[in-house]
Amino acid sequence: MKVSKCTFRAGLGLLMWAVSGSALADDNDLLARVAECERLDHGEPHQALDIGEALLDQLTLSQDPVLYLRTVGCVSWAQANLGLRAEAEAGADLIAAALDRVDSLHARLSLMRREAALRHRLGNLAESIDVLADALLLAEQHDERRVMIDLLTALGAQHSEDRLYDRAIAHYLRALSLVDPEDEPRQALPIRFNLGLTYRNAERFDEAVEVLEGLIEPLSNWPGMEVRLASLFNVLASIRRELGDFDAAEAYSDQAIGLHETLDNSIEYTSVLIERAYLSLARQAPEQALEWATQALAEARRSEFFQTLGAALNLNVRVLSELGRHGDALVLERERAELVETHLRERERSRLTELEARLGSERQVRELEQLRQARELDALVLQRQRLTIMLVAVIALFGVIALYWLRRTNRRLYRLSRTDPLTGLRNRRALTERLTAVGQDRSGNRHVVMLIDLDYFKAINDSHGHDTGDEVLVAAARKLEKFASRHQGVAGRWGGEEFALIVPVESAEQARKMAQTLGQEIASLRVTGRRGEAVGVSASIGFAPIGTRAPDAEQAPWEPALLIADLLLYKAKRAGRRRCVGVWPGDKNQTLHPRDIDRADSRARLRLFEDPLPSP
Ligand code: GH3
Ligand code: MG
Ligand code: MG
Repeated sequence: MKVSKCTFRAGLGLLMWAVSGSALADDNDLLARVAECERLDHGEPHQALDIGEALLDQLTLSQDPVLYLRTVGCVSWAQANLGLRAEAEAGADLIAAALDRVDSLHARLSLMRREAALRHRLGNLAESIDVLADALLLAEQHDERRVMIDLLTALGAQHSEDRLYDRAIAHYLRALSLVDPEDEPRQALPIRFNLGLTYRNAERFDEAVEVLEGLIEPLSNWPGMEVRLASLFNVLASIRRELGDFDAAEAYSDQAIGLHETLDNSIEYTSVLIERAYLSLARQAPEQALEWATQALAEARRSEFFQTLGAALNLNVRVLSELGRHGDALVLERERAELVETHLRERERSRLTELEARLGSERQVRELEQLRQARELDALVLQRQRLTIMLVAVIALFGVIALYWLRRTNRRLYRLSRTDPLTGLRNRRALTERLTAVGQDRSGNRHVVMLIDLDYFKAINDSHGHDTGDEVLVAAARKLEKFASRHQGVAGRWGGEEFALIVPVESAEQARKMAQTLGQEIASLRVTGRRGEAVGVSASIGFAPIGTRAPDAEQAPWEPALLIADLLLYKAKRAGRRRCVGVWPGDKNQTLHPRDIDRADSRARLRLFEDPLPSP
């Protein structure tokens, strides 16, 4: 599980490296942080874990296998100390699997030491010994003497722990043979100490004494090694006791006790006092033994160390039993049992706490991850909302613009569809609409429709050119426009050189007068021709009032008026042009009919006007 996690991290690290260029991160800084992790992994495993896991996010196996695996080692050690066995074991497996990638011999050897230490810490003694043996082989191949000494010492210690004393002794001896006594006298001392203890454990007491006594002098001359020296005296005392040499044992014990007077090490001192009590027991002096045992118990209580206290209680129970003080022995035995129970319970609890902490932190990580995801989701939702709003705004803006454009276009189209392009006047369609509106007007206002046709216009085109003809049309249109607006009417181009005017009138006379004025105004127009000549035009006008109903149901109310106006215009033309001809009903409610025009005179009900208009 861990392996895949690490592999995943390695992959992730590689990706990060590729993406962010973190390969440029200061190598020294990384190295310092790995060293910091290694410094803390035993005493401050939580801190080490934080540093190490952060490093693993940054480092990659392929980029820097040594730093990566050192960090894995540190993290795994911290994990082992925190009871995270499976994780620590996976770390050890990873180191073993990835070792091939490490080129540097020293780095490789120290990683193997780390792996072995992890296996040992996790209780896999045989595996640890195998790794150390492989490392030893590698060191041998490269003649790495110093490393070989370390490895042999470690192998000795682990074989000794495994009660394989002969093998342990062989390793220690070999280690000692490699130590150059001139160069490194101190390197040999711990090995010899271990060798002596192993001899004792193997019950090879003579060899033990020989080796250990050989240490007295160098240790005495080594300032700061008083605790070790006291321990040495104590071991020698115990060996001498085993050998039945009680006096020598007591002498060593005295030396140990003497040293402890100036030291403050309850644990070590307790073991000296315990040994002394056993010596008293061996000497058949139980009362004396009780004194030492009582002292040992007091010291042990000061140490607050479970094993020391347990040993002291054990001793006291035994001494008190030998003295026949079974009640007292029982009290202490109970205390010992409680101590063991408490210890076991505490161990269980600390395991549980560790487990809880682990689960808690995993849950926290999960929750944080969920929170982070939720935040990302929120951000995405917000972003989507903003985008949607923006999109809607853009669409709305475009919509408004499009609508505005469309309406403008529509308006223009509408205008264009009702406007004559040359003169800008209403065209026939617009005029028709106006006629319809007027025809439906029930307010009682009377309107007339006047048709105005320019006389001999073809001749103007012919003699002055089409352009001049156009100019004349435009000038006439302006005049008409102004005239119409002056009389609250509308003007338009009916087609060619023919215009129409729809204007409210109150009487026949007013209509008649209006037509005359209009005719005069048109005749007064002057347009400058191509050659600078002044061009004028006269007009013929026919007009008729617009009725509110048509005699023929098929027709619109205005149609008869228009037909009549056209007829009257034709009349004016035939009468020689430059004149205006209009009609008016004799009776207010009379409906005019085109066929009545020619009969106008015979039927007095119609009034027909005919007035000459001026020449240009
Ligand atoms: P009448 O007095 O009988 O009305 O004679 P007329 O020449 O005015 O009438 P006719 O119907 O014989 O000719 C009309 C001329 O108007 C023919 C045509 O070329 C001209 N015309 C029509 N529309 C335009 C135009 O937009 N521009 C110009 N320059 N001439 C036009
Ligand atoms: Mg004409
Ligand atoms: Mg005409």
